[in-house]
Amino acid sequence: MNRIQVKTVLNKHKRRDAWFLDDYSVNPYVGCSFNCLYCYVKESKYGKNAGNLSAKINAPEVLKEQLRRRAKKKEYGIIAISSSTELYMNIERKFNLTREILQVILKYKFPVHILTKSTAVLRDIDLLKEIDEKANLPEDLNRIGHGTIISFSFSTLDENLAKIVEPGAPKPKERLQALQKCIEEGLLTGICFIPVLPFLSDSEENLDEMIKTAKDYGANFVLVGALTLFGEKATDCKTRYFKFLEKYYPELIPKYEALFKKSFQPAKRYQKSLEERAKRICDKYGVKNRIIDVAISNTSSSLKMST
Ligand code: SF4
Repeated sequence: MNRIQVKTVLNKHKRRDAWFLDDYSVNPYVGCSFNCLYCYVKESKYGKNAGNLSAKINAPEVLKEQLRRRAKKKEYGIIAISSSTELYMNIERKFNLTREILQVILKYKFPVHILTKSTAVLRDIDLLKEIDEKANLPEDLNRIGHGTIISFSFSTLDENLAKIVEPGAPKPKERLQALQKCIEEGLLTGICFIPVLPFLSDSEENLDEMIKTAKDYGANFVLVGALTLFGEKATDCKTRYFKFLEKYYPELIPKYEALFKKSFQPAKRYQKSLEERAKRICDKYGVKNRIIDVAISNTSSSLKMST
């Protein structure tokens, strides 16, 4: 575990993310100990040290100055935490960076979108409720009516499969219980069924089960997105994912090759069909398939992985 000093921690996006609605992102850590097979954080394009677990020990201090300047100019926008790491890894107990960052966000009244696979988010419910009440949303997002959004991400509800593809993350059932608690606390909370795993968690039954479960647990929304696979190096997610297929599902390799061909994403018709099926099943259960409907020209998301 490295301790690093950073010069900047608040990333301003060129345009708002169409799915997660964030204008900014903050990552308290580099790398992630949850080790999801499909995660592209370790991927070569992020640089050779991108996967080394590091704590940005001065992140709260740096964020304070960056948000002070943005708040002065009233440049409010939703801050996604975290887009390229898990903000509630076990090391958070030692470093407390996420909590300190939330305290800074509360001080400057910015709204947040928490993206997590961890139940440890419950530790910060007090701060998240305060942010929910006090944050200044950008004018065009005022109708959200919440300063805090929480998304719990899943790639499957199958505990055995989850143990293999997301070895360091809490069990899906535990995530659902944490989600329920956040909803009981009055926070806008939903499910990111991202990435859906082709031929493993993308059947009609799998989608129905996930969206029905979301309904049963009271989720406010369900976002559904396809798997992406990047890179050719040993630590890249495409290589790791195909090794997993070789070991557990060799019969699926030709199907994946046909679906992805040379691309990092599955064929367009697959993506379209997934989107249509998800929408149809969300309609069936009366669950929203977006946080809110927003008019944004780019309908894709840069956070599709997602943490
Ligand atoms: S997908 Fe998210 S939780 Fe999984 S390893 Fe990547 S950053 Fe961590």
